[in-house]
Amino acid sequence: MIKKIEKLSKVLSESYSEKSLYSSLRTFFIDDFGIKDFQILTNENEDSLHLEYRYPIYKHKKCIGHLEFDKDNKKLKDFLNACMPFISLKIQNILLNERMQRDIDFHDTMRNIAKIIESQYELNYIIPIIGEMLDKFFPDYLIYIFLKDENLQVNALAWPSACNDKNILEMVKDNKIKESERIYTVPLISESKNVGVLAAKSTEDKISEKDKEYLTQISGQIAITIQRANVYAEILKHATLDALTGFYNRHQLEERIKQEVANAKRQHAPLCGIMTDIDYFKNVNDTYGHAVGDLVLKTIAKIIRGQLREYDIAGRYGGEEFSILLPFTKINEAKMVAERLRKTIEEKTIDISKVNSEAGVKNLSITISLGIYEIKESDKDEDLMKKADKALYQAKNTGRNKVVVNED
Ligand code: GH3
Ligand code: MG
Ligand code: MG
Repeated sequence: MIKKIEKLSKVLSESYSEKSLYSSLRTFFIDDFGIKDFQILTNENEDSLHLEYRYPIYKHKKCIGHLEFDKDNKKLKDFLNACMPFISLKIQNILLNERMQRDIDFHDTMRNIAKIIESQYELNYIIPIIGEMLDKFFPDYLIYIFLKDENLQVNALAWPSACNDKNILEMVKDNKIKESERIYTVPLISESKNVGVLAAKSTEDKISEKDKEYLTQISGQIAITIQRANVYAEILKHATLDALTGFYNRHQLEERIKQEVANAKRQHAPLCGIMTDIDYFKNVNDTYGHAVGDLVLKTIAKIIRGQLREYDIAGRYGGEEFSILLPFTKINEAKMVAERLRKTIEEKTIDISKVNSEAGVKNLSITISLGIYEIKESDKDEDLMKKADKALYQAKNTGRNKVVVNED
């Protein structure tokens, strides 16, 4: 008996998670008491199979679960009579710890969602970040985010890229809390505006009350983030400069393209457009975090600005796509500008240690691909960047880190 108690005490002291405790206890009872099957049921996981012999686990006088065995014998009974309080204490500790850890993770997730809005305002950029955070926080659930269309009418799937579950699609039609055994949907409401629905589907057990509470609280945070992004995007449409890079934003860029094309045509002057896109940029975000991604964007924007003449125009076309307009410039000259830009960026090392000190590397090298086009008399305004983009696409498909001219 003393030997067994010593062994138990070792098992208890060496387990730090619910999983490891349960599996070491299982091995212990199977090896030492001739048991074949064993499980621990706590009030939090009470749905599993029931085995024949049950021993209650008490916390003070309240039963918080059971140890269950497929067989019973005197040796086991005596042992449990002596040792149950220690086992119970350990289980209580571990459950408490895990609950606390999950609460900490929850608050981290809430804070991170709140933080996104400080630097980002494009929904198609924000939603995947939130989606990935939720997937991490709810590893046993499939998470779906539905957003209202512009007229705040129908809920359309925004994360992930597909949802084939007919039940979910049906449930999110209404903007209400709905639940079935494995699905839970919560409307996203901010300032009494309904901006979408958050849906969770359990892949294993049914959705716990605690998780419903988490989902409800998180839905509030997501709704605020989306609502603010919408408002911010509306304001920024009327602003001129992109907050991250200081370049013209998309809206303003399009205005400038119109003006420059009109100028070029009126004066019969050459005009070139360059479209650039960072190579494998998603990897940068995924590997080093979005703050490093943002630093890369800023650095590249700065290099581009530094390489251009004063009357050249640079704009942020989309997330990591920059457009450049080169007035009074023929294609051969533009090609030289683009090539110089490509080379400067290739040779630049970006120090990321200030932004992410745990990245494991200090310096990052980045490359970009570029497509160029010189506008013709017969072209429409939008052809300039469309045709440059076609060349960019070709640069991407033929190895990246290169300049391709559209000779159309
Ligand atoms: P490719 O070489 O084919 O261009 O590969 P890629 O990984 O760059 O592919 P893609 O153009 O599809 O990826 C764009 C990524 O840029 C996705 C998104 O995570 C990231 N991104 C877009 N806007 C921002 C931003 O404002 N900040 C950061 N950090 N990342 C952004
Ligand atoms: Mg891109
Ligand atoms: Mg890219």
